[in-house]
Amino acid sequence: MPAQLIDGIALSQKLRAEIAARAAALTAKGKQPGLAVILVGDDPASHVYVRNKVKGCEDAGIYSLKEQYPADMTEAALLERIAALNVDPTIHGILVQMPLPKHINPHKVIEAISTTKDVDGYSVLSAGELMTGLEGFRPCTPYGCMKLIESTGVDLRGKHAVVIGRSNTVGKPMGLLLLQANATVTICHSATPDLGLYTRQADVVVAAVGRRNTLTADMVKPGAIVIDVGMNRDDAGKLCGDVDTAGVKEVASFITPVPGGVGPMTITMLLMNTVEAAERTI
Ligand code: NAP
Repeated sequence: MPAQLIDGIALSQKLRAEIAARAAALTAKGKQPGLAVILVGDDPASHVYVRNKVKGCEDAGIYSLKEQYPADMTEAALLERIAALNVDPTIHGILVQMPLPKHINPHKVIEAISTTKDVDGYSVLSAGELMTGLEGFRPCTPYGCMKLIESTGVDLRGKHAVVIGRSNTVGKPMGLLLLQANATVTICHSATPDLGLYTRQADVVVAAVGRRNTLTADMVKPGAIVIDVGMNRDDAGKLCGDVDTAGVKEVASFITPVPGGVGPMTITMLLMNTVEAAERTI
């Protein structure tokens, strides 16, 4: 039987309705959640991402402050702006859209954001909180992947999860979240000699590579859950993931499509983190 598609659009809609209800409850108490989104420069893709984040806020009843600066903004000016937002009581989350122009150090910028407002979960402190199991903000994409896995109803306790990719924003936090959910975790990367050796043993595979057809049907254990984080283009220019979906869906039990799987969940989890940040101030 072909795999069931995990519908990221439907799950996002359900979660966004819950987020909107929580935002409305906060607003009724005079504490409307607020997200500041800072964009420096003219990267066209960044403009689209920022627009979608702002629209997500508006739809959920979250106040959004969009600040756009020219590409020659100095690092000092950006840090100064973040410092002001850190103490602004109407702002509960601060997001600086990446990539930044080359003369600005992204690490310095991320570390300048107050941990209580780091709704992207990218700072060293947020990473440490995740690693040590403390309450903190989970990076949005892996957090969304966990929600997609949860939606299958499969308990991860004792399951073997294989993550392909070890980036700080996706692969590594994904591994930690799966570990926290009591899975046994293997993380693979570009120096892993025989990827299939590991993925064939996996009850759950999360592919976060950025290369299409990284995971093919012969590399998947029958009945596995497959989460496809990748965003690539096929020869016709159509959006596709890291997984050969047509082949793998004949073997897996659940699979996320691209588009319509992980993608919609990322902004949803950003909104959820923003509401959580506001709730923590009460
Ligand atoms: P990244 O920083 O480039 O990391 C890619 C990871 O894949 C690296 O750890 C790399 O290993 C590993 N890798 C590369 N080639 C490999 C191979 N042949 N076999 C096994 N592992 C390999 O990318 P990222 O930011 O994590 O993103 C990964 C993908 O997810 C991209 O397509 C990105 O566009 C997509 N993405 C989607 C969303 C969404 O909302 N849908 C959000 C974030 C990212 P090394 O560490 O050894 O180099």
